[in-house]
Amino acid sequence: MTVKKTTCFAIAAAAFFCAAFFIYGRTQAAAQQSCAASENYRMGTYVRVTLYGADKEKLDSALKETDGLLVELEELFSANIASSDVGRINTARGEWTSVDEKTYSLISRAGDTAKATGGAFNPAIGDVVKLWKIGTPQARIPEAYEIARALRNTDYGKITLKNDNGKFFVKAPEGMALDLGAIAKGRAADLLKARLLELNVQSAIIDIGGNIDLIGKAPKRGLWKIGLQHPDHPRGEYFGVIMTPAASVVTSGPYERYFEKDGKRYHHIFDPATGHPAISDFSSVTIIDADSTKADALCTALFVMGRKKADAFLKKNPEIAAVFLLSGKNEALVTPHAETLFQLTDKNYKKSIIGGAKQ
Ligand code: AMP
Ligand code: MG
Repeated sequence: MTVKKTTCFAIAAAAFFCAAFFIYGRTQAAAQQSCAASENYRMGTYVRVTLYGADKEKLDSALKETDGLLVELEELFSANIASSDVGRINTARGEWTSVDEKTYSLISRAGDTAKATGGAFNPAIGDVVKLWKIGTPQARIPEAYEIARALRNTDYGKITLKNDNGKFFVKAPEGMALDLGAIAKGRAADLLKARLLELNVQSAIIDIGGNIDLIGKAPKRGLWKIGLQHPDHPRGEYFGVIMTPAASVVTSGPYERYFEKDGKRYHHIFDPATGHPAISDFSSVTIIDADSTKADALCTALFVMGRKKADAFLKKNPEIAAVFLLSGKNEALVTPHAETLFQLTDKNYKKSIIGGAKQ
């Protein structure tokens, strides 16, 4: 994989190809600081890291470390790497697999999220994902019997974990394939953030394929401004802006990865109940949260749930800050906690509330 070092300005421009993107590039305030930026292809997507600070040498060395960590995490979490922890669990034929603590804790979190979302987020969806091959040149519509067979192996309740005096093990039933694609980017962002804070980096943008994590103060006047990709418009056009202190901003949408056949679009977010791309009321879901792992997994889950189930879930979890676009309607929905963070910029759209505490 090529490692590209690039200027901060180029990164800001390149970020326009993401689901959510950093709007403001170099500013006067930022120009007085040093900046180090890189762009690498990792975890099946473009990862852009931009660090700000006074000491350019320190930033360059922190940048190198973050990429090393990313490579390490990809080699643990990727279902597409046979020797990764997840790859080895998937071929262990129901036996215990020894894994890194990071994999153990991520699978544990994935299991909790699956339960909390009634299985809308399902880390045992791997067989379904492999069947459709969406995002690859071999993408196809599987036969009904193939989907039915893949669905037999998606009971996430059958994943078991063991912590044996600080040694970590995971077991999945034979035939089951774990896929952490809907949560691993968020976890990677959290771990990168923790490392950067240890390295004393005061201000940074981590962008893992549109899964954005912000550290410290924005180079310009405190708040970060993140544009949310318009699902029906060319890349780089946004429907609204998130203005926030340091937080993670994660977007999921069917427009990110899909193929078309006979005029129908088949996208990469599956409904674990049907084994087909989820038919959702939403064309875009964004979560803003301090915890990028949570934001990543919930984004995918809320997309799968659709409006009615998402509304009920958000009423039970009123602390969640989320922004939705309704598919085919010029309407954005925001939770009460996202209201002050979100500014709708598309004048053709109206804004309504979803979720909130039960009356
Ligand atoms: P995201 O881009 O975070 O919404 O995650 C989408 C990726 O997660 C897909 O490419 C699949 O690898 C996987 N995935 C698809 N549907 C689900 C689901 N319902 N639950 C968990 N993972 C999923
Ligand atoms: Mg996700």
